Amino acid sequence: MPYFHLVFTLPHELNAWIAKHDRVIYDALFHTAWRALNELSQRKHNGRAGMTAVLHTWGQTLVRHVHLHALVPSGVYRDQGWHSLKKNYFLPVKLLSNRFRGAMVSQLRAAFREGLLPALSQMEVSRLLNVLMQKPWVVYCKSALEYRSTLVTYLARYSHRIALSNNRFQVWNNDKISLQYRDYRSGKQSLLTLTPQELVRRFLLHVLPRGLMRIRHYGCLSNAIRAKVKKRVDKQLGRYEPKANGGSEKTAESGCSCPACGERTVTYLGDVSESKVTKRLRILQSWDNGS
Ligand SMILES: [Zn+2]
Repeated sequence: MPYFHLVFTLPHELNAWIAKHDRVIYDALFHTAWRALNELSQRKHNGRAGMTAVLHTWGQTLVRHVHLHALVPSGVYRDQGWHSLKKNYFLPVKLLSNRFRGAMVSQLRAAFREGLLPALSQMEVSRLLNVLMQKPWVVYCKSALEYRSTLVTYLARYSHRIALSNNRFQVWNNDKISLQYRDYRSGKQSLLTLTPQELVRRFLLHVLPRGLMRIRHYGCLSNAIRAKVKKRVDKQLGRYEPKANGGSEKTAESGCSCPACGERTVTYLGDVSESKVTKRLRILQSWDNGS
């Protein structure tokens, strides 16, 4: 089954708040992304959407760059059964972006009123949220038809760790460390030199609060109803045959880049640990295969 890849990104102005109240803001990000998506989906397609979302907190140079990757099936679940959508259209991106912004800002206001952001003052909350409401927030949305396998593999790889592997270190001595990264504006590889202390500081930005779930499932992909929905969808789509190798799936050479953290997904093919969580993340792939 085709699906869409959406990325909900928080503006960097919220980074200072995240440093003080990461759990509340990460939870709000999951909640509001789903709320914006599902409400709009109900309105536009008259059915329940599904979403598997993975939290990333890093950019290419390990700075804090909080974004949520969402895999959304190209269809909605109605009482009568599964309703497939057009392959290249899901929701109007501008409307979705505005809804996400409004939902996130009102969620943060509510969190402050309820005393969940005690390190912040009334004045700074009002000031910053008013500023953020005036700025455009852009939700990335693209049909993942052409790179669905590489996308799921990429997200599965970072379900338990951040995007930092040994081969990205170019020089390592007592004084400095050079880190290779891809500048996603130019597309070129570049080097960033940091002190070991700065590298560790940046690395620690991405340690999640204890027990926080980095991967969550919603709507027709939520744990409670997923099996039931899957059974009906499989039955309904029984005639769906995935193309054999060489079909519409693009090859490793033509994969995608994460629009937020800039990582190329293609370099990670065939290198995924099959942990319990990554198996669960692969549900959309299992739908592809009709299993
Ligand atoms: Zn990412």
